[in-house]
Amino acid sequence: MKPTYFTVGPSMLYPTVAAHIQNGLSQDIGSISHRGKAFEKLFQETTENLRALLNIPADRRLFFFSSATEIWERLIENCVDESIFHLVNGSFSGKFFEFSQTLGRKAVKHEVAPGNGFDLREIAVPGECEAIAAIVNETSSGVSMPLEDVSALALSHPEKLFFADVVTAVPAVSPDYSLIDCAYFSVQKGIGMPAGLGVAIVSERCIEKSKQRKADGKITGTYHSFSQLEKFAATQQTPATPNVLFIYLLGKVAGDMLTYGAEKMRNETRQKAEMLYRAMDQSALLSPFVVNPAHRSITTLVASVKTGSPAVIEALKKEGMIVSSGYGPFKEQHIRIANFPAHTLEATHTLAQRIAAL
Ligand SMILES: *Cc1c(COP(=O)(O)O)cnc(C)c1O
Repeated sequence: MKPTYFTVGPSMLYPTVAAHIQNGLSQDIGSISHRGKAFEKLFQETTENLRALLNIPADRRLFFFSSATEIWERLIENCVDESIFHLVNGSFSGKFFEFSQTLGRKAVKHEVAPGNGFDLREIAVPGECEAIAAIVNETSSGVSMPLEDVSALALSHPEKLFFADVVTAVPAVSPDYSLIDCAYFSVQKGIGMPAGLGVAIVSERCIEKSKQRKADGKITGTYHSFSQLEKFAATQQTPATPNVLFIYLLGKVAGDMLTYGAEKMRNETRQKAEMLYRAMDQSALLSPFVVNPAHRSITTLVASVKTGSPAVIEALKKEGMIVSSGYGPFKEQHIRIANFPAHTLEATHTLAQRIAAL
């Protein structure tokens, strides 16, 4: 039997991916021009399905990139003149902060130790910062920012651009995109596709800022500047030859999730997370790494393993269940478990039973 990948990314492929790749190839998706009608049609289908699945407001643009990591760099180049504020609680949010520094911006961070969430009352954003970088789900530590906190933080600084990393939140956890100037993700996490495509959901304010920077003679990048992306997206195209097969696939998978039912998918995500956290509580070896239940991720769950994680990872692997090791310094102390739409109730139940018995 094929193993189930409960890894946090790349992860289990959504069950329809293989058939869509086959269909795409038989429709010559790998050979069609990215300047032709067939591509424009699939670009449109993908953006429409994503808008419906994630409840994206009509005034937001969707831009395609190669990864979420690329989007960090593009955001700084396009939208930040001098100074940006970062919320940091783990490796991914920390990396974005470092990108801002590397690109010569004044980066200010509010940092809490891995495993902790943010207390809004303790966050003080300096007036000089033009943008706030938040993270909805920190994959390295399994910490989530409650969606009401994401909204409250954005609403309390209306004059600043608000960026949100939603890489491992999407599509089961869906923030209010009307309050976020740029939310971004890549497809190898919750969407259940192979890696190689990043998506940014961008407000008019971000595009205006990019245009202003360009007019001021500042660097906004070349082919992936927001003005270039906007210009081409207006005719359902991209500045460079994109990953056409993956844009096609993303549209199809989003369509399948809509058919399955977005609400049903979100309810099941909560149900599966409860199952897994309950199992950690029952296990003698495992315990949730995130102490505050309000900050525990429901999409990437992290457990501390009393005896070290390698033996547990190996034992689960023998039974066809692949989980991630801890991230960075926690490599041998934690396991990380993905709870994405590709993970069925049945498969998750089996994993939960096994964990409870550890
Ligand atoms: C995986 C991940 C990223 C980076 O995504 P890439 O597609 O590898 O660039 C960024 N943020 C979070 C929270 C992630 O989990």
